[in-house]
Amino acid sequence: MHEFSLVKKEVEKALGKVAGKKVSRVKFLLGRMAHGNPQSIREAFKIAAAGTALSGAELEVVVVEPKVKCGGCGKVFNVDKEINLSCPHCNSKSNELVSGEECYIENIEIED
Ligand SMILES: [Zn+2]
Repeated sequence: MHEFSLVKKEVEKALGKVAGKKVSRVKFLLGRMAHGNPQSIREAFKIAAAGTALSGAELEVVVVEPKVKCGGCGKVFNVDKEINLSCPHCNSKSNELVSGEECYIENIEIED
């Protein structure tokens, strides 16, 4: 269960930031090209957060669509699964994935 160790690491990082305060909401970014799915992230989060300041927090999993940046013209465009596509603007085959592999906590809200 690869995503569990990733989620656990993220939970530990977040715990370091909140310094024992109770967390009400957690926003988790999950790229479509990353391992896992929202359901497995939720389950991993529940286990990793149990007994910590993050337990009971509302978890929002935001799925990030993959995007690549063209090495030819610099434009950023959406892709499905295959990243080795020609650029729709200039036909260049040189491109790099700029989003879609996220697997981390982006934001936490602390209870007042
Ligand atoms: Zn291009």
